[in-house]
Amino acid sequence: MDRRIFLNAVGALALTAAAIKLKGMNTMFEQFNNTEKMPLLFLGHGSPMNAIEENEFVTGWRDIGKTLPKPNAILCISAHWETKGSFVTAMDKPRTIHDFGGFPKELFDVQYPAPGSTELAKETKTMVHKTILGLDDKWGLDHGCWSVISRLYPKADIPVIQLSLDYSQPPQYHYDLAKELVSLRKKGILIVGSGNIVHNLSMVAWEKLNDTYAYDWATEANEKIKSFILTNDHKSLINYQSLGKSVNMAIPTAEHYLPLLYTLALKEENEKITLFNDKAVAGSLTMTSVKID
Ligand code: ZN
Repeated sequence: MDRRIFLNAVGALALTAAAIKLKGMNTMFEQFNNTEKMPLLFLGHGSPMNAIEENEFVTGWRDIGKTLPKPNAILCISAHWETKGSFVTAMDKPRTIHDFGGFPKELFDVQYPAPGSTELAKETKTMVHKTILGLDDKWGLDHGCWSVISRLYPKADIPVIQLSLDYSQPPQYHYDLAKELVSLRKKGILIVGSGNIVHNLSMVAWEKLNDTYAYDWATEANEKIKSFILTNDHKSLINYQSLGKSVNMAIPTAEHYLPLLYTLALKEENEKITLFNDKAVAGSLTMTSVKID
């Protein structure tokens, strides 16, 4: 072959390869751009058994799932990933983490093989200025995330990333950080906070584990928090430690409550708030969940 023809052929091949690569990048970019604004969720996750049992809460999640447009990807803020500093999972294949003990083998056998999204993790990192968001390659999906997401999207065909909770930061930090993620909603990203509004494990009435039962203080606290959610009084919700004895008993530690603040921070004016699964179990846990759209 003439040397010039050969070089031209190599050049043409290289150009084709570059074009294919560019097309791939465009597809990825378009995947996260210019969609309708996605709804927001806060899901009360309760027992990990909700991943495999059938009950009214699982039905509630499924019913809400049917009302959602299909997301391009999911960003989940779970009560069960606490870190020093804020991180976002950035691996392609997040592992299913069984971060609990004393449950049947059937639950440990559950795998939720949803892909991750390095692209979305990087994009999320670039929009956060409040802190340096770290890219994590070690975590995966913990049960706060997969026990609920698997009931909404059982096929595991939508990429999922997690954002951690920086345990060293006050509630206002989490609320402000969440606000920086607002543009993700218009890229088809479903943002899901997963925790519980009332969550006091030391007060659980174990004999009533499968009953919808609440202590009076738990009902009082849940009603109080709900009233602030419905009146958009986020300031009171951020300062929840000043809301009195019942709320202090309901929220002895922040991690199950903070995911709610992430969801609420992203609410825009005039958006509708829908409460569902609004019941308590075992005296000191509430499953109350929120959809915003
Ligand atoms: Zn939990």
